[in-house]
Amino acid sequence: MHTRKRVLVTGGAGFLGSHLCERLLERGDHVLCLDNYFTGTRDNIAHLLQNPYFEVIRHDITFPIFVEVDQIFNLACPASPVHYQHDPVQTTKTSVHGAINVLGLAKRLRVPVFQASTSEVYGDPSVHPQPEAYWGNVNPIGLRSCYDEGKRCAETLFFDYHRQHNLQIKVARIFNTYGPRMHPNDGRVVSNFIVQALRGESITVYGEGRQTRSFCYVSDLIEGFVRLMESGPDVTGPINLGNPEEFSIRELAEMVLAEVGGPSRLVFRPLPSDDPRQRRPDIDRAKDLLGWEPRVRLKEGLRATIAYFEEELRRHTVMQNL
Ligand code: NAD
Ligand code: UDP
Repeated sequence: MHTRKRVLVTGGAGFLGSHLCERLLERGDHVLCLDNYFTGTRDNIAHLLQNPYFEVIRHDITFPIFVEVDQIFNLACPASPVHYQHDPVQTTKTSVHGAINVLGLAKRLRVPVFQASTSEVYGDPSVHPQPEAYWGNVNPIGLRSCYDEGKRCAETLFFDYHRQHNLQIKVARIFNTYGPRMHPNDGRVVSNFIVQALRGESITVYGEGRQTRSFCYVSDLIEGFVRLMESGPDVTGPINLGNPEEFSIRELAEMVLAEVGGPSRLVFRPLPSDDPRQRRPDIDRAKDLLGWEPRVRLKEGLRATIAYFEEELRRHTVMQNL
């Protein structure tokens, strides 16, 4: 039987955070959701507010936090390039000061702490697919650096706290994940293409669309988070979590178009700087250590995500007409 734990989720009102809070409440935990609503919304967690075991703390993780919990999941950080480039200095502060603050909290409480790291630590990878042992190819001074280097420094802090203070750490390197509650305007490729197709607008493929990504459905990812947190103390990570099925961005555009139908056509726009050309996780470590692998195929996940955005667009149209 699962004994009720008090769990802190930073970034809990965001896309992944809200799904994680939901999952933890379902298994009977007491969840403290911390967020400053930079990219997260109250809408994402509105359905959880009636639960007596769900608490919300409005707080910026770049400042220390004092709470009493049994586990910490650190997800606070804008994740889409449009959002994290909006205020790059704050993005680095969120990753670095945020990591220092959650690690300090974990050290005082002697509790395990999970870090939402990213495939971006591999930069524009010269090894493909990317295993955890690959050190990456990251530009330290480019437009994506605030995020990539911030997350790399956070990993350094996690491993130094582990070595120096014997802290139990759980570092996940998350690859592109999609699903309901993605922000419709955050510029990420799956939400952009779906919203554009549903509105009958042009689908904006950057470059020639030959760059690749591997897309993981949110429920699969959250299962990986929970398994990693529950794994033995020796399992520190870093551990890749993502779906190893790789698609070109053009293929993704065509799949979305085929699912949604309608009059949209592909248009080609300039490729943003430092855009990685290829990305696919090697998930052997997650399979071995966590018995985890994704189950939801892209077509199936896209259908669920399209249904969510259809409903969101309908809701907004109704609200505008009130
Ligand atoms: P998101 O933008 O939806 O969620 C991030 C949440 O953090 C938001 O609710 C935001 O308001 C909050 N936040 C930002 N700065 C904060 C601060 N200073 N203090 C407190 N809260 C703050 O993004 P997401 O996709 O849910 O990503 C969650 C985490 O997972 C991030 O750390 C991100 O780097 C990581 N990640 C996500 C993906 C992905 O594909 N979604 C891939 C790799 C890594
Ligand atoms: N992309 C695109 N059209 C869009 C948004 C993104 O072609 O409207 C491309 C982008 O250039 C990148 C890929 O899709 O090559 C994934 O972009 P996203 O911002 O979702 O994530 P990341 O680049 O961080 O993997």
